[in-house]
Amino acid sequence: MNSQNHDATSPAKAPDLRLVAWEVTRSCNLACSHCRAEAHPEPYPGELDTAQARSLIDTFPQVGNPVVIFTGGEPLLRPDIFELISYADSQGLRCVMAPNGTLITPENAKEIKSSGIQRCSISIDGPTAQEHDLLRGVPGAFEQSMAGIEYLKSAGVEFQINTTVTKDNLDKFKDIFNLARDLGAVAWHIFMLVPTGRGADLRDQFISARQYEDVLNWFYDFRKTTDMHLKATCAPHYYRIMRQRAREENVDVTRENFGLDAMSRGCLGGIGFCFISHVGQVQPCGYLELDCGNIKTTPFPEIWQSSQHFNALRDISAYKGKCGKCEFHRVCGGCRARAYTMSGDYLAQEPLCSYEPVKS
Ligand code: SF4
Ligand code: SF4
Repeated sequence: MNSQNHDATSPAKAPDLRLVAWEVTRSCNLACSHCRAEAHPEPYPGELDTAQARSLIDTFPQVGNPVVIFTGGEPLLRPDIFELISYADSQGLRCVMAPNGTLITPENAKEIKSSGIQRCSISIDGPTAQEHDLLRGVPGAFEQSMAGIEYLKSAGVEFQINTTVTKDNLDKFKDIFNLARDLGAVAWHIFMLVPTGRGADLRDQFISARQYEDVLNWFYDFRKTTDMHLKATCAPHYYRIMRQRAREENVDVTRENFGLDAMSRGCLGGIGFCFISHVGQVQPCGYLELDCGNIKTTPFPEIWQSSQHFNALRDISAYKGKCGKCEFHRVCGGCRARAYTMSGDYLAQEPLCSYEPVKS
């Protein structure tokens, strides 16, 4: 066990793990300009083998009943992917997958279904092939993803569309939503760009704190116009804005009015969510590359329960700057990855929040 990453005085009971993103492989056939992993198509050394991967799955129920996101890289490039999904499904875990869509065929769409995947998320960052392919870095990616979605539909696999917010696609959001609706997506999740990996080179694509505020307010209003499930992901202050707006509108923040958003928190990294890399490194999330331990040397439940980084993220009093005194801290928390990349301290205040806490 790595004593640097584990704290003997950790709290007795860690929160339940609700969601785990597992990078089953880092290899990928695309070269997206915002890729956290800066992935390439060749195999990466040190990836978990099948036995290690199955053992990891065995440990998930020991820390909660998490939804398991099989992600990458491109998860379909892992040869034993369906064996692993079937195994996790047989353990009673809800399994979802995040393929890029370009490698889905009529055949593997059926395997996605029969292995137990309950939903696929496909990333679409522009409403047209030209706009999407530019960000994805591969001409033809849009058309291939569209074909992949059709194969999923034919196989009876539910899908959602994920969109990363950049300066370039900010004014095309309505068009991207319309595309998602017309395709038959069950949900549309928007992601805020986090400046890590290849995304760090996209400085000109970062939106400002003001634009961030505007897009989340737009999202709050737009959500009311559709029955489709909309979610702002890795946009922690949406949970603050939702409460501010609801208060102005005299609406209670209840499950009836806001669905699961009423019960959740902005950033769940290390609190109800974690990321496991292709080599088994456990992190608060894919964008926050803190080494919390490696499942090859330390059992995953031990890492989840006693990593000092996780314990720091769970301790509200440890947060600094505005986030440390903010009355919305419990429901927001700020993006720890953005704080880390932009200031070097993952407990520092969220750099892209324009809110001034009441308490000075
Ligand atoms: S730190 Fe939290 S909000 Fe930021 S990218 Fe990670 S999980 Fe998302
Ligand atoms: S100051 Fe921090 S905790 Fe408060 S709303 Fe902004 S990001 Fe969230």
